[in-house]
Order: sequence, then structure tokens, then C-alpha cells
Amino acid sequence: MADWLAALDRRAALRAKAGLTRTLRPRAAGDPDVDLAGNDYLGLSTHPEVVAAAGRALSGYGLGATGSRLVRGSTDVHHALEDDLADWLGVDRALVFSSGYLANLAAVRGLVQPRTLLVSDAHNHASLIDGCRISGAETVVTAHADVDAVAAALAAAPGRPAVVVTESVFSVDGDLAPLAALHAVARRHGALLLIDDAHGLGVTGPAGAGAVAAAGLAGAPDVVVTATLSKALGGAGGVVAGPAEFVRHLVETGRTFIFDTAPPPAVAAGVRAAVALARAADDLRAELTDRAGYAVRRLGAAGLPVSTPDAAVVSVTAPGPEAATAWAADCRARGVAVGCFRPPSTPDHRSRLRLTLSTGVTRADFEHALETIVECAPQSRTEVVL
Ligand code: PMP
Repeated sequence: MADWLAALDRRAALRAKAGLTRTLRPRAAGDPDVDLAGNDYLGLSTHPEVVAAAGRALSGYGLGATGSRLVRGSTDVHHALEDDLADWLGVDRALVFSSGYLANLAAVRGLVQPRTLLVSDAHNHASLIDGCRISGAETVVTAHADVDAVAAALAAAPGRPAVVVTESVFSVDGDLAPLAALHAVARRHGALLLIDDAHGLGVTGPAGAGAVAAAGLAGAPDVVVTATLSKALGGAGGVVAGPAEFVRHLVETGRTFIFDTAPPPAVAAGVRAAVALARAADDLRAELTDRAGYAVRRLGAAGLPVSTPDAAVVSVTAPGPEAATAWAADCRARGVAVGCFRPPSTPDHRSRLRLTLSTGVTRADFEHALETIVECAPQSRTEVVL
């Protein structure tokens, strides 16, 4: 075997020894598993109106966008989707990207000027972390949800431009950032606030407009919001939403916007239909809130260390990575798909099962899934931190 491949093999063996092997498992259409692993919070990925809208655009435009947005890929569907998103989120303008990951890379980098300080929450998603890295700006990582630490970091950089970077609903434990307090601190120091509302959009807020709107920050001139179109909206793509001048800046300078082929028009059309449905889905949001509370009570009553969710993400700590893998595999063998999060995908090196709730799952299946999770739980509840 070539040297470099042997070196990769040795590294894979080390990961295996630490219980951190990752393998791909193909899912077939119509897989009978009860899905507590995906992010299809409102069940919109398979909604007939969403699928029909995508299908019509597929016939009209073909499969791909055939070019980047500035060259040939910007269809009327993309523009209409951006208008819909801006209207929903209560901002001047919205700009659609191929993914939430790329939207975050562009948003962070676009907010950075010479001497900017980035203040980033320790639990932030990899795409925000990478955005900070590729921006080249000095970055201070603050303890999770610690407003005082953010204030101290800003106070230590007087006179410098600064951006506070946070998720809204954190993707691993489902807890909500103290958005109003962060905004107040940022404003006091003349800093901007970038909020990734990936897990809030469609799930919380007035008409599902997200955690930023719920915190009363929609349209604030010093706030920029990003989100993915792949979770509650059931599609694919990402969005940056905020002041028109900032969106223009991204159109003209955002590398992950300019040099990336536009998202397929059919996906944009499906997401437009999903936005309309999500705006009207207060009943589904109430059901998600109810299920989150029920999950916490049921798993907590079984003695499992469960998170306190603010939206539709619930996590249960596992004794270690191997235990998490075995727990998730046992659940899967019994027809229940759960997320299995291990380092480096966890911010605190603790392994967990992550349950993402979806109204696309029947209530009976959901309750059965929780029973299964309890029955498959590892015997030892001792937390082991790697
Ligand atoms: N931000 C957060 C908080 C996420 O959970 C995700 C999805 N894993 C992303 C950004 C990236 O979005 P996308 O999957 O559309 O690239």
C-alpha cells in the first residue's frame, strides 16, 4: 500500500479505537424507520404541494441552474424566493445560497473589515467556525451562552469593529441563545450581531419566522441572520437576510455566492411552496413544542440525562462514544433512527443521541420511538468525557 494510504489507515485505526468511526448508511425512499434523526421538522420535504411545485419547475427549467447566479443561474424563481424570505423574516433583503454552510461562510467573511474582532460562541456550528477561520479575522471564542464573556471580549477591544457570532437554537442540545441580551451588549459596544437561525426558522417565532423574530430582532439594522433551507423548509440551500447594503456587498464580493453554481430552480420552487406552508403552520409548531416537553418528561422519568430544549432538538447524553454508537444502532435495529453525535461534532467532547422532532412522524410512532430509546439505553449512566 502506498505510504500516504497506509498513514490514512493508521489514523482510521486510531479513530476506531476511540469509538469514533463514521460510516455511511444508504437510506431508501420510503424507509419504514421512525425518523428522529433528520431535520424535516414540519414534514415539508414530502408535502404534496412542495413536491408538485418542485416538479413543475423541474419540467420548466430542467435539472440544474446551469451557471452561477451572476452568470446564468439566477432565475425568476430564485428572485421570488428571496422576496418571500425577506418578507417572512422582516428584513430588507435576502440572498439565497446553495447551502447554509456556504451562506455562513459568506456572511461571516462579508462582515469582516480591517481590524474586526469576531466573538464566537463555543457551541457554534462548524460552518460558523470555518467562516471565522477563512475571514482571517482575530476570533475570541467565548463560553457557551455567556453574555458577560461576550461583553468582556468587546470591552477589551475598544474602538475596533466587532461582530458577535452565534446560533439561535443550538444544533446539538437545542437550547436557545440569549439573543436579546446579546443584542443589547453588542449594541452597547457598537458591534454587529450575526445569528444562524438554522434550527429556529419555521419552528419558532411569529408565523414561524424564527428565533430572531421571536426575540424582537427582525429587521434590526445591526443584525444579520442566516439560515438553511434544508431543515424546517424541507429543501436545500441557505439564506443570508439583512440590510440591503449588506446583501449587495455579498452579491458583489461573496466568494461562496459568486463562484458557486446557483441552487437548482426546482429546489428553489419547492422551498417557496414550503415557505408558504410553514408560515401557516402554527398548529404544527404547537405540536412540536408539546412533543419536546413530552420527550423531556418521558426520558427524564427513565433517569436519562436529557437536555432542556427550546425548539425541536432534544439531546440525551451517552456514557461515551462507543455507548452512543451502540445505543443508536440498537434503536435503528428496532426501526427508530436517532442522531448519534460524538466528538468532534460535539462542542464539549460528550457523546449524545440527538433527537430531532418532526410532525411528519405520527404521534403514536413518536411515543413508540421514545419507549425504544429508553429500552435500548446503556446500563451505565456514568458520563465519560473524552
Ligand atoms: N448551521 C447550523 C446550525 C446547522 O445545523 C447546519 C446544518 N447542519 C448548517 C448551518 C448548514 O446548513 P446546510 O446543511 O444547508 O449547509
